Amino acid sequence: MEIISGKAVSADIRQDIKQDALSFKERFGRAPALAVIIVGDDPASHTYVNNKIKGCAEVGFRSICQKYANGTPQEEIASFIKGLAQDEEVDGILVQLPLPKGYDEKYLLSLIPDSKDVDGFSPTNTGLLSMNRPNTVSCTPLGIMHLLASTGTQLKGKNAVVIGRSNTVGKPMAMLLLNADCTVTVCHSKTKDLSSYTKNADIVVVAIGRAKFLKGEMVKEGAIVIDVGINRVDGKLVGDVDFEEVAPKCSYITPVPGGVGPMTITMLLLNTLNAAIHRLA
Ligand code: NAP
Repeated sequence: MEIISGKAVSADIRQDIKQDALSFKERFGRAPALAVIIVGDDPASHTYVNNKIKGCAEVGFRSICQKYANGTPQEEIASFIKGLAQDEEVDGILVQLPLPKGYDEKYLLSLIPDSKDVDGFSPTNTGLLSMNRPNTVSCTPLGIMHLLASTGTQLKGKNAVVIGRSNTVGKPMAMLLLNADCTVTVCHSKTKDLSSYTKNADIVVVAIGRAKFLKGEMVKEGAIVIDVGINRVDGKLVGDVDFEEVAPKCSYITPVPGGVGPMTITMLLLNTLNAAIHRLA
């Protein structure tokens, strides 16, 4: 069994992004730029945003972080996003989710042009992925594809099971695996006899937000298991996989923390770089 280190894979990719950001700056006279908007005071969201801003600094990007108190009129936020959409010196725009109750998430996200949608959440970017013409792809599933690639495993023809069908993780994950010629099954909370699917899977991706959900008896020998879950149990971060039980049966497995997590921000940086290059090159 080998543990896939998201930290190591992520560090290598960030090194390349840093180099490319330098070349971008030499060519266009400015660094790639990411704008992040956060509303309210949810501590986890603030931690994620701080890490995104830190990530930008690490690879030499310019970042703009706009913080709004909960209760700020939606139109004030909307007009800020509209300004960023027009700004030639901003390459990526991200609204940190979830927004506090009362804000219209769909409306605010719709103000981000597809070319600056570095989260890959827009209907166009989602549709292009499902047509196997990917433009910008959701960061977490994209990061998982890099983790799978780091194992050197040939994906073509593999049986893959994705547990979870959210628009941001499960569905785009299933599309990426399908586009990579896997035979894909998507399971969710209404799936009956879920382990009958996972037991036959060469690759299992779990993205549900239930601590230690995937047990040893649910996976076959030699499977690759990717744990997306982030759950806080007694102050500790725990994944959706019961690592102690599942790891001995796997060929490869990601840990929590240090697996999928570090890749997500790295993919955001990569999407921002690519958005900048596509717009200007
Ligand atoms: P989400 O929007 O809440 O979706 C959860 C999905 O899991 C839903 O499709 C739900 O099914 C399914 N589900 C829930 N309980 C289940 C069960 N007992 N059996 C089978 N399926 C079940 O969550 P998300 O945004 O996709 O995130 C999933 C987890 O990944 C969370 O822990 C989140 O914190 C984590 N995450 C981590 C990263 C990272 O960078 N590491 C990034 C994003 C998310 P239904 O559709 O039927 O309700």
